Amino acid sequence: MAKRLVILGAGESGCGSALLGIAKGFETYVSDLGTIKTIYSNKLKNAGIDFECGKHTESKILNADLIIKSPGISDKTDLIKKAKSLGIEIISEIEFASQYTSANLIGITGTNGKTTTTLLTYHILNNNGISVGLAGNVGKSFAAQVAENKFENYVLELSSFQLDGMFKTKIKHAVLTNITPDHLDRYEYKIENYINSKYRITQNQTETDSFIYNDDDELTIKNLHLNKGKASAIPFSINHEVQNGAFLYGNEIIVRLNNFNKEFIMPINQLTINGKHNIYNSMAAAIVANSYEIRKESIRQSFSDFKNVEHRMEWVARIKGVDFINDSKATNVNSAWYALESMDTPVVWIVGGTDKGNDYSMLLPLVKDKVRVIVCMGIDNTKIHQAFGNVVDFIVNTDNAEDAVNAAYRFAEKGETVLLSPACASFDLFNDYQDRGNQFKKYVKQL
Ligand code: ADP
Repeated sequence: MAKRLVILGAGESGCGSALLGIAKGFETYVSDLGTIKTIYSNKLKNAGIDFECGKHTESKILNADLIIKSPGISDKTDLIKKAKSLGIEIISEIEFASQYTSANLIGITGTNGKTTTTLLTYHILNNNGISVGLAGNVGKSFAAQVAENKFENYVLELSSFQLDGMFKTKIKHAVLTNITPDHLDRYEYKIENYINSKYRITQNQTETDSFIYNDDDELTIKNLHLNKGKASAIPFSINHEVQNGAFLYGNEIIVRLNNFNKEFIMPINQLTINGKHNIYNSMAAAIVANSYEIRKESIRQSFSDFKNVEHRMEWVARIKGVDFINDSKATNVNSAWYALESMDTPVVWIVGGTDKGNDYSMLLPLVKDKVRVIVCMGIDNTKIHQAFGNVVDFIVNTDNAEDAVNAAYRFAEKGETVLLSPACASFDLFNDYQDRGNQFKKYVKQL
């Protein structure tokens, strides 16, 4: 009898999983508590897959042999608890699909820099004739691509939630960009649970695999013992030279990989993405790229024509000598730190939103040094006033993007930068960080 596969969540990954499930002979059912976008409901209908939306009918779910859960659904929901108590196996889309492909998997995780590093790595490989797909949190569903047997390599952006649903997946090149506190609400407010989750990326690695990590990142280094796989450890650092990995020497990134007997040099002024954090992201991508047979000159060329990702330190406009930068994706304190750190003019900083238990103290030295004016954009701005009220010339409250942009423009002087880097989630005032960034850009263009 066919095994029953139930998929919870009918977005890009859920829909792709359903298509792979059907292709592999599962009796497949999809359930989504919210609405299902027409594009996905049409795909399910065309493939003859049974589904429901607006509810989770337990009698159709708890009879599953296997559940694929969208990473957005917490383990703490009643439904998942019940499924677990019945002993039903619950995995992620990545785990499911990886069982049906022998492609090499490049997995990229970390608190910040996942999307940038994933897209950069994909760009370099794809530009140089490597058969490669883009999946995970970005791109098209991994499972759908596996169903079509599309590529020999995949670059996967992996959040900790995705890693939590991965057990047997073997990652050939695992990248851990950094670890700072985030999403702790899903980890019982224990940083060690979150760290453990990140290190799951190494769990099935063998000698021929690599674990690529940030040697300057405190929490990563303190927990290197959690790298239980047998992969060769390949560090990258801005602060010191490394024997087997990547480091910054003057204004050049040097990559030295013993296994490949290679030395690769990339001047940082040829990178199209700026800031210290992007040197880290570039180092990680360069290590992966140099593990493939690609000419060094072609790798350098690809770094030089990579287009920055929207909403990440995205330059929007210069108006009367004031630069406007959209870093709406900075949804935590650490990413805002890197944004402020990369500023070389005085800053009018737009900050605020849904606070996830932020500790702003690490930003204080940078704010003192670089920020002249703070424009709060959020429903409750109390913590921002408490943290920075005494160290800037002006601090004002706004509760929508139009007012925030207008206020920032009024205060900004020629030669300064208006930086939207909110350090908070966006849900108090916007649908998501894209909506926040798009509204910011719209009102800047209307100035
Ligand atoms: P993620 O996918 O992990 O959220 P992104 O590449 O989308 O990461 O970047 C998210 C935010 O973090 C952006 O504001 C960006 O400027 C900042 N950022 C990017 N790379 C890093 C890094 N290596 N360290 C710290 N902050 C980073």
